[in-house]
Amino acid sequence: MPELPEVETIKRDLAKILVGLKINQVKITWAKTIAPLSPAIFQRKIAGTKITAIERRAKMIRIKLSGPLDLLIHLKMTGQLIYQPQIGKIVVGGHPQPGGLINLPNSFTRVILSFTNDSKLFFNDLRKFGWIRLADDKTIKTLFAKNGPEPLSKDFSLLVFQQILARFPRRPIKQILLDQTLIAGLGNIYVDEACFNAKILPTRKTSTLKPKEITKLHQAIIAILKLSISKKGTSSRNYVRADGSQGGFVPYLNVYGRSKETCKVCKQPIQKIKFVGRGTHFCKYCQK
Ligand SMILES: [Zn+2]
Repeated sequence: MPELPEVETIKRDLAKILVGLKINQVKITWAKTIAPLSPAIFQRKIAGTKITAIERRAKMIRIKLSGPLDLLIHLKMTGQLIYQPQIGKIVVGGHPQPGGLINLPNSFTRVILSFTNDSKLFFNDLRKFGWIRLADDKTIKTLFAKNGPEPLSKDFSLLVFQQILARFPRRPIKQILLDQTLIAGLGNIYVDEACFNAKILPTRKTSTLKPKEITKLHQAIIAILKLSISKKGTSSRNYVRADGSQGGFVPYLNVYGRSKETCKVCKQPIQKIKFVGRGTHFCKYCQK
């Protein structure tokens, strides 16, 4: 699943091309993607509106429209957003699909937004966990409020982080960092990387962290997300960028996906274990 830097990259790519476009019509080939609205109501409410802005909150993308309702999109496991200015030319994506070739629309296409300038935005989703909601501001704010603070905003101060950890002294640090209701947007990649950067084992209980370690972890989370955004995210078998190009963060990974390789710092093998239900990567020499 794309994490904060990947969704932020898609948001920035989309913002460059979609803002100002007017929606002509919507085609829905998988009704559950846009539930609970019916395709007919969804189409009627959205046709003729203009895209005014694109925002991100946690792992969700909000496409603001000129009407009273906005689009809220979650790519989940395999969702893609692909912009097609003209036949054969692809500008914005999300997840690659098996085989790598992108014919549009294809058997994974669930929703197509057509714009008055004849360009199209395709929402493709192999596993169908992704969703698109048409909702008013109040509904969206309620949904957003279920997520913890944005780690790159002022809301995620050291004090706030200390308070989050203090509430759950017996929980492992990895479980806390993955919990979207406590901190928004982190997933497996950036949790493992932040723990490595802070030299902390992700398996430790939060009560064992010294104040200095909490400060280091707080700084590491922010630094790693900023660096990844600047490199357009991490490409994997589950995510490529926008135009099908790769995010540039992979060479900066220290532990994630490197279980058969050696630690870049101490040259000892990187460990991978299953922990809190997730593949968890760390260096048992560098992290304490
Ligand atoms: Zn090491």
